Amino acid sequence: MTHPLLDLPPLTAERFAAIERGVAQLLSTEQDVVITQGEALLPLEGCIRSGARPGSTALNVVTGPYGTTFGNWLRDCGAHVVDLAVPFETAVTAEQVAEALAARPEIDFVSLVHAEAATGNTNPVAAIGEAVRAHGALFMLDAVASVGAEPLLPDAWGVDLCVIGAQKAMGGPAGVSAVSVSQRAWERFAANPAAPRRSYLSLLDWKERWIDTGRAVLPHAPAQLEMLGLEACLDRIAAEGLAAVQARHAAAAAATRAGAAALGLAPYVPVAAEAAPVATTLRVADASAVAAKAVAAEPDAPLAAGGGALAGSMLRVNHYGPAAALPVVRTALTALATALSADPGPALAAATEAWDAQGSPAA
Ligand SMILES: *Cc1c(COP(=O)(O)O)cnc(C)c1O
Repeated sequence: MTHPLLDLPPLTAERFAAIERGVAQLLSTEQDVVITQGEALLPLEGCIRSGARPGSTALNVVTGPYGTTFGNWLRDCGAHVVDLAVPFETAVTAEQVAEALAARPEIDFVSLVHAEAATGNTNPVAAIGEAVRAHGALFMLDAVASVGAEPLLPDAWGVDLCVIGAQKAMGGPAGVSAVSVSQRAWERFAANPAAPRRSYLSLLDWKERWIDTGRAVLPHAPAQLEMLGLEACLDRIAAEGLAAVQARHAAAAAATRAGAAALGLAPYVPVAAEAAPVATTLRVADASAVAAKAVAAEPDAPLAAGGGALAGSMLRVNHYGPAAALPVVRTALTALATALSADPGPALAAATEAWDAQGSPAA
C-alpha cells in the first residue's frame, strides 16, 4: 500500500533549485539563497560561526531573547561583543545603532532581530541598515518572525545575511529555513579560517558543492517532506499575494490590540508602530493563570503566557500564518474575556472595527 507521505518520488535538484528561487522571490533578493535543512537556529548559528572570528568585534543588538543566544555564539567564536540592549517593550533606533558603531570603529559584524515574536516588538531595519552600511560592517538579520508578516527587503536595506524560517507568518513547516548571502558575506566567510567546513553548520559547503557547481547535484539527501511543505507555503503565499498576507497580519495585530484595550489590558509594547504584526503582547497580572483559564475556555485560542521572567506579567496572542484572521482574533479575545470574567462584547466590536479599518483583508 502506498503512503502519501512515505512513498514519494525523489526530490530532484531542479525542484530544489526552483524552491530556492521561490524563497529569493519572496525576499526580493538577487543574492544567493541557501536553504538549510533544520530549524532557523541552524542558519543563524552557521552565519555567526562563519562571519565572526577571533579578533572580530561584533555589535549584538538585544531586543528580545534571541539576542542573548547570538551574543553567546559570538563570544564562543572569540569575537569581542558589544551588546546594545534596549528594554524589550521598545524598538532599537537607528540613532542608537549609529552611536554604538561610532564609539567602536572596529565593529565588523552586526546582529539584529527584525521582529520579536516572544516580546512583540519590531525594529526599523531600513534605517538601521543605512547606519550599518555607512560603517561597513557585515549585517546579519534574524527575520524569522517578520517574513510574510511585514515588509522585508534585505537587498534594499543592505542586509548581508537574512535568515528566515517557514513556520511563523509563512504558515509553513518548522524544520526548514533559509538565508540570503551577499557577495561580501561569502568573501568574509571564505577569509575566515574558523568558518565551519565539512559540517552541518557550513554555508561554504553549500556554496562550493551546490551553488558553484551549477546546482546540478544535491550534496545531501534533501529533507523531502519539509521541502514540499516549503514549496506549498510559497505557492499559497503567491496565490494570496505577499501584500495581502502582510495586510492580514497588520489587521490581526490592530484588531487584537483594539480588542485588548476594550478589555482594559495595556499593550506590552506601548508604541503601536513598534509592535510586531506577528504577535501581540499584553501586560496581564498573573499571566500564567490567566492564560491557563483562557485556553481551558477556548482550547483553540492561540495565546500563551510570556516566557521566563515574563510569565507572571505578560501574555502573548499569536496571530501568524493562517491564524492572522479575524475569527481567530475573536476566539483569542473571547478566551481572554472569559478568563478575566469580563463581557467579550465590547472587545469583539472593537476588534471587528479595527479589522475593517485596515480594509477587511480576506483570509
Ligand atoms: C521563532 C523564532 C526563531 C526560532 O526559529 P526556529 O525555527 O524555531 O529555530 C528565531 N528567531 C526569531 C525572531 C523567532 O521568532
